[in-house]
Amino acid sequence: MQIVFVGAGHASSLVIHRFIAQNKQISGCKVTLINENRTAVYSGMVPGVVAGNYAIDDATLDVKRLMEDAGGEFICAKAEFINWDTKSVTCKSIGDSSIQVHFDIIIVDIGSTNKSVPGIQYAIPTRPISILTQRVEEYERRIENIENVKCIVVGAGVAGIELLFCLSSRWKQKFPNKHITFQIIDSNADFCSSLNSISLGNRIKSIFDNNRELEYTFNARVESVQEDQVVLKDGTHVPYNVLIWACGAAPVDFSFHTGVELDTDGYIKVNENLQSISHRELFAAGDCIRFCTNGIPKSGVYAVREAPILFQNILLMIEHFQEPSLVPYKPQSHFLKLINMGDNTAIAEWFGMSFGPWSILYFLKHYIDTTFMKQFR
Ligand SMILES: Cc1cc2nc3c(=O)[nH]c(=O)nc-3n(C[C@H](O)[C@H](O)[C@H](O)COP(=O)(O)OP(=O)(O)OC[C@H]3O[C@@H](n4cnc5c(N)ncnc54)[C@H](O)[C@@H]3O)c2cc1C
Repeated sequence: MQIVFVGAGHASSLVIHRFIAQNKQISGCKVTLINENRTAVYSGMVPGVVAGNYAIDDATLDVKRLMEDAGGEFICAKAEFINWDTKSVTCKSIGDSSIQVHFDIIIVDIGSTNKSVPGIQYAIPTRPISILTQRVEEYERRIENIENVKCIVVGAGVAGIELLFCLSSRWKQKFPNKHITFQIIDSNADFCSSLNSISLGNRIKSIFDNNRELEYTFNARVESVQEDQVVLKDGTHVPYNVLIWACGAAPVDFSFHTGVELDTDGYIKVNENLQSISHRELFAAGDCIRFCTNGIPKSGVYAVREAPILFQNILLMIEHFQEPSLVPYKPQSHFLKLINMGDNTAIAEWFGMSFGPWSILYFLKHYIDTTFMKQFR
């Protein structure tokens, strides 16, 4: 039997790690991981990398080695489409050669990308996360000789806010003589409005209100981006020197061929067993799914919690391919959100209440993130 993982997202990486940890010999199975890079980046630590709390290697996972330690094959290539007639994935490797990989069971965990607008190439997008720090460094070379720097962050969600504070902290150390201001722009009416937490929104707003270098503009949709300004829906042009694009997830460009049920946005529709509702051999996890019972946020926390269920269901499929009794995944309704403020403090949100910025919350976040990474070392 051939088991193919497409994308070394959080869930798939943990499943492969479980195969190693539990010394599960997948007898009679050939296991392959296809990922577009030989490493994958753990997003939870990336704002900390930007702030200088960590080196990029601290947040990077060698997924080639992980797969090889599990006794499988690693293919460094971008998966392009699934052909259900031949049950194979077509991928493009470095050098543009096309490879076909046959599967009996396929697990897709390819994450998500950014919502796009015309001119997005001028911005630093938060996804793919692997290139975020590289793009920040590129922009830093461009602003080296500018005294008054204006940075716009589009998206007042957790990722945008965390990056804003971590960049601010980084540049205070790197460019002590520059005057750097930040403006956050969002089409919603408040901070973190998708979390529905008035307490967290108010806490962040008060931090902005007490800092002359921070500004916010709500109910403003960015329609397009030019080289040095963004254009809002009402026609206003807002100039910038650095632009961070943090406004939500969109599906990765990947073709599932005809027949795979996707939602209207293009995410894979899965049932409670994390199995495609149209193709029983297809499992999926992380940002690329649309869960059947309720929408779950695009967050690494869910991808991580899906991993044990995915692991069990893959084993059950291997053992009883025709009639497996699969295990359901029950997403939690709440989880602790921790936002790194870039200055060794963090703020938190828990069941609608918010706290901080406090050092203890930063150390809690540091502990959670480094413990996660340690299991792969
Ligand atoms: C700045 C920022 C900070 C964040 N911080 C947090 C946080 O603190 N906590 C939290 O819970 N969530 C956080 N998130 C959200 C989190 O990043 C995502 O929810 C999480 O990464 C989703 O994991 P995943 O398993 O779906 O896939 P990912 O971890 O995104 O991995 C997808 C993998 O698939 C590969 N891939 C993609 N397409 C292909 C293809 N066609 N062929 C082959 N390989 C492919 C990619 O290279 C990548 O390795 C943050 C997001 C951002 C942008």
